[in-house]
Amino acid sequence: MKTSLLSERAQNALPSPTLGITARIKALQAQGVNVIGFGAGEPDFDTPEHVKAAAIRSLQSGFTKYTPSSGIEALKDAIIAKLERDQGLRYRRSQIIVSCGAKHSIYNLLQAVLNPGDEVIIPRPYWVSYPEQVKLAGGVPIFADAPEENGFQVTAAAIEAAITPRTRLVILNSPSNPTGAMISAEELARIATLVARRNLLVLSDEIYEHLTYGVAHVSIASFGEEIKQRTLVVNGFSKAYSMTGWRLGYLAGDEKIVAAMGRIQDQSTSNPVSFAQVGAVEALNGDQTCVEEMRAAFQERRDVIMARLNAMPGISCLRPDGAFYVFPNVSGLLSSRIPDGDVLAECLLTEAYIGVVPGSGFGAPRHIRLSYATSIKAIQEGMDRLQKAAERLVNER
Ligand code: PMP
Ligand code: GLU
Repeated sequence: MKTSLLSERAQNALPSPTLGITARIKALQAQGVNVIGFGAGEPDFDTPEHVKAAAIRSLQSGFTKYTPSSGIEALKDAIIAKLERDQGLRYRRSQIIVSCGAKHSIYNLLQAVLNPGDEVIIPRPYWVSYPEQVKLAGGVPIFADAPEENGFQVTAAAIEAAITPRTRLVILNSPSNPTGAMISAEELARIATLVARRNLLVLSDEIYEHLTYGVAHVSIASFGEEIKQRTLVVNGFSKAYSMTGWRLGYLAGDEKIVAAMGRIQDQSTSNPVSFAQVGAVEALNGDQTCVEEMRAAFQERRDVIMARLNAMPGISCLRPDGAFYVFPNVSGLLSSRIPDGDVLAECLLTEAYIGVVPGSGFGAPRHIRLSYATSIKAIQEGMDRLQKAAERLVNER
């Protein structure tokens, strides 16, 4: 008789704290508890009407069967046009794969390139799923600090210090979840040179590229042919087009890697939802005004939440340049009763009825993450509650 029902792989995988807290907030709200949620990294807007209409038309016309498992040609062509339009990057169809969310593209990439013991460098703070997906692929996450003192920006020097003979891949995420920080073009150029010199690959997760506030997004893949060949660009529809539930993302890069990911997809999920792909074609090829409208709304919310947070005792928060998260340092609220961000998040949920994600899941236990992808009214009400809680906690210390 085996000692455990579960594989070591499953036992070692941590639960997703972002999805976990979101589920708890929704469950409390369903019980009638008035919780203000800053948990999920999910835009509160509806998917734009023209995108929904395209998917509905395709569903009604009977586009309900299997598609090629790496995605329909029309969507690959729309992705190719988008990458050329926005980043000046040119790809062939054989270099594009569409998956069930950007998360799934990243998962399949790691499955396609890592051997057991291969190391992946991840800037810290990091999005919760990177280390877990690396471990699920048999790899070893190695962290390169992106310290608050440096605006949460990772440097080529920090990445270089983490390189060993086992290093295979570096993950970049600019704008970042959870910090909203962006890596400057100068630093990206240094990272590109380093990656080429040390013969590595880069996963560039660009899912927040359109959500920037005054600083232009640059893809590391656009720094020349050499780095382009080493970069796997990941993007999706969840954030820019508010399509989280549609489960569509994509990757562009080396043909052999893309083909290997295709084989993995063939033998696991098969294609992403057929009519969702048609909606995604419309998202990329249709009117882009909706993206700018949502971006402008996020910028206004960022300014409101930043002003409120930095006026509170015990909290300090850097101004993020992108994404829709703030990642305040809450050291000034911690005490023997509340020793870290995990206990603080629990206390805020049960005592102040505000849902935030503790920073520990992002590798930063003295921080908490708040998503401001919610209405200004909810932000103001949530900040009133947090202000009272912060005043109380500072007095308790
Ligand atoms: N990358 C980052 C940095 C994210 O925050 C998310 C969150 N959804 C994803 C990838 C995955 O997005 P999706 O699977 O919804 O396309
Ligand atoms: N990426 C979002 C977040 O960080 C959605 C949840 C998830 O996929 O982790 O909240």
